[in-house]
Amino acid sequence: MKLKKTVTESLKKALLKQKEEQNSKPVASEGSETENGVKPGTMCKNSGCTTSYVDERTNDEKCWHHHGTPIFHEGYKFWTCCQKRTTDFDEFLKQEGCISGCHRWELTAEEKEKKVVCRYDWYAMGNFIVISVFAKLSDPEQTFVEANRTSLYAHVAFGGSNKFELQLTLHGLIVPERSSVMLSPTKVEIKLRKEDIGSWPSLELKLPKDDNSNKQ
Ligand SMILES: [Zn+2]
Ligand SMILES: [Zn+2]
Repeated sequence: MKLKKTVTESLKKALLKQKEEQNSKPVASEGSETENGVKPGTMCKNSGCTTSYVDERTNDEKCWHHHGTPIFHEGYKFWTCCQKRTTDFDEFLKQEGCISGCHRWELTAEEKEKKVVCRYDWYAMGNFIVISVFAKLSDPEQTFVEANRTSLYAHVAFGGSNKFELQLTLHGLIVPERSSVMLSPTKVEIKLRKEDIGSWPSLELKLPKDDNSNKQ
């Protein structure tokens, strides 16, 4: 069955604002591109940098960014480069870059090919297991979570044309009728009601498989 879905007021507002901004944007003409082909407004692709391209002078600025990869582990979030641990996702996003270099306006071929992967995290709270999928500005019409007592399938559409799917065989039994999903501007929160009070050592049920021996 599909889990009951709620959309926070802040997400509704943010989506409305996004729509208005898109509508008011002038249609980009070929002429608006500069000699080096970077369109004004293009975001820097380096992790942690929030600069967008204005003109040639933007290239003279220093780009503060993280060269490491983001790690989400046991509720903690941090960059492998500077390792400032936090449990707060918004705080993690705000962590300033730890090295400086040049802004980068294009994705590498490797990055372009990569499928969209959302980070997700989970914790236990009383009788509930809460899974947070960190997808910004999820689409309330296309996002849904289906679950039965033992498994879950989440389909998250966000940020325009991105899609993320999550399929889990749960560690314990849940009550789908009493579980729900909440969409907010920075994440999709799936709240699963546990069927019994036992704690879950992990989110997923690990079945003994041959290929497990290959995992690190
Ligand atoms: Zn860093
Ligand atoms: Zn930058």
